[in-house]
Amino acid sequence: PEMSLPELLHESVAKHSQKVAMTFGETRTSYGDMLDRIQSLAQSLKNLGVKRGDHVALMLPNCPQYPISYYAVLYLGATVVQVNPMYKPPELLHILRDAEVSVFFILEDLMPVYDAIKNDVSLREIIPVSLTSPSRYDELVQQDPIETGPEYILPKQDVAIIQYTGGTTGRSKGVMLTHFNIVANTFQAASTQVETEEEESTSRVLTVIPLFHVYGMTSAMVLTFHRGGDLILLPRFDVEQVVHVIETMKPTYFPGVPTMYLALYQYYQKRPFDLSSIMNFTSGSAPLPVEMMNKLLGLSSVPVLEGYGLSEASPTTHRNPVDGVQKPGSIGIPIPNTESKVVDVATGKNEVLTGEVGELVVKGPQVMKGYYKLPDETAATLRDGWLFTGDLAKQDEDGYFYIVGRKKELIIASGFNVYPIEVEDVLYRIDGVEEAAVVGVPDPYRGETVKAFIVKSQEKELTTEQIERECKEKLAAYKVPKIISFIDELPKTAVGKILKRELITSEKSK
Ligand code: ATP
Repeated sequence: PEMSLPELLHESVAKHSQKVAMTFGETRTSYGDMLDRIQSLAQSLKNLGVKRGDHVALMLPNCPQYPISYYAVLYLGATVVQVNPMYKPPELLHILRDAEVSVFFILEDLMPVYDAIKNDVSLREIIPVSLTSPSRYDELVQQDPIETGPEYILPKQDVAIIQYTGGTTGRSKGVMLTHFNIVANTFQAASTQVETEEEESTSRVLTVIPLFHVYGMTSAMVLTFHRGGDLILLPRFDVEQVVHVIETMKPTYFPGVPTMYLALYQYYQKRPFDLSSIMNFTSGSAPLPVEMMNKLLGLSSVPVLEGYGLSEASPTTHRNPVDGVQKPGSIGIPIPNTESKVVDVATGKNEVLTGEVGELVVKGPQVMKGYYKLPDETAATLRDGWLFTGDLAKQDEDGYFYIVGRKKELIIASGFNVYPIEVEDVLYRIDGVEEAAVVGVPDPYRGETVKAFIVKSQEKELTTEQIERECKEKLAAYKVPKIISFIDELPKTAVGKILKRELITSEKSK
């Protein structure tokens, strides 16, 4: 439907006013109270001069103030710019400038990050948010609620969010998502769940994936509010705390990323706990190695549903069906109202044959308006309504899609294509390998050669010879890592993606 995000929220509040919308530690906020605060904050922002089309940044962890600030900004027809709270001053400066931010909500504890660059930007207003003591934010939510509604928003034209991409493969770009994009993706995601209305509105969603990232924003926050569920917010991933919440609050959903599930699995092996309240784990944002999936499935009867998405698609485009065949290693099938195909990498035109690798392209109402102020990159990425994902994929006879890697991370060794994920899958199967990442490094003879970074599990002995032997048994010679490096920890992005770029550069500087 053509509606704005605040209108979608109004619908839920009308149905669920007394119900709990968010839980944060001991604090519970009802749908009615949440809307009151949103409308009060919207009035305050209006008084501060915020108007339609203005850019307002949020640099906050998961906390009740997040959704309230988010919807208050949207209420005025202004645009939310989400900022990763882990950013360092230069990264913050880039976003504040690039997105021409005028008003900035920031967690009080992060003020030093802003102070370091404040002379280089000119914000109209800065609004510190404290989770422990009264702050400027708290004054602003005390206002009388705004009287005008959000009707004047044009869902298909107005940009709700400028979402900076994860920067996993290069410079972070501002993705413009309209209200319609995000609302459409919310409905698409909701229609893939098979639930009664009662089940929907009693859903409790353990939300440790960050709200500032597109996955947490749509698939946890907006979707849960749309369904009338309870968003259980945790500010950071701490496995003990997550287990505690699972045991005491009995969440029904836990959307996560592979590295979170890995940590949970390792914990479970030492101390099993009751997972039975969880209907399914949805894994997205990075590949879930088949071996890890099998381990998770061995834990309990909770199904693991892998899905796929990207900032440019609000984010979800593919998913393994809840009520159909789920294939390990596959991202599933396109969600409703989404078209998808695999095309020739070089030309971007012809579809490749079943089973062959090409670039994954998608089309649907969730596809972005474009990159902010980057017309060339927009034209290269959006062609004839198709979004070129930059991911390499193949399709099987049943129409299931498989990601084999990123175009940028493809290794070409002696002229042969090596997909890191294929090698990683073999590595994960080796006893004693806790985490693995495979990259291409320059090689005078082969052009590029395969290099593996391994994190060993503490209890096991493991040598490079052993790894080599196992790889040689299962992989063609050109795919076997020629260099193996043990490290304590893999560098990761805020949503737990392995930063391969950083792995390569940190090695160079040694
Ligand atoms: P940047 O585009 O700046 O390099 P990023 O790609 O991390 O950063 P996001 O939009 O957060 O930005 O992530 C989207 C990407 O995540 C996809 O293009 C894809 O490479 C990867 N991805 C998401 N889900 C999966 C999955 N299930 N399996 C494999 N890869 C996935």
